[in-house]
Amino acid sequence: MTPTSVRSGASTAQPTDPRCLHCKEPLVQDDIWGWMHEGQRYLCRDPRTGELLTQAATLI
Ligand SMILES: [Zn+2]
Repeated sequence: MTPTSVRSGASTAQPTDPRCLHCKEPLVQDDIWGWMHEGQRYLCRDPRTGELLTQAATLI
């Protein structure tokens, strides 16, 4: 019960933590493009190889 433990990575699900349907990376909402991956990257990246994919960021 510490007041500063909100963003400490607890195992409980966070409803305000948007993730990509394809690569599970965190998403941020852009005013123009809509949902994008962190770092202003629109296309997905393979989590294992780092290769850019053809899928666009999609909110789960
Ligand atoms: Zn993605």
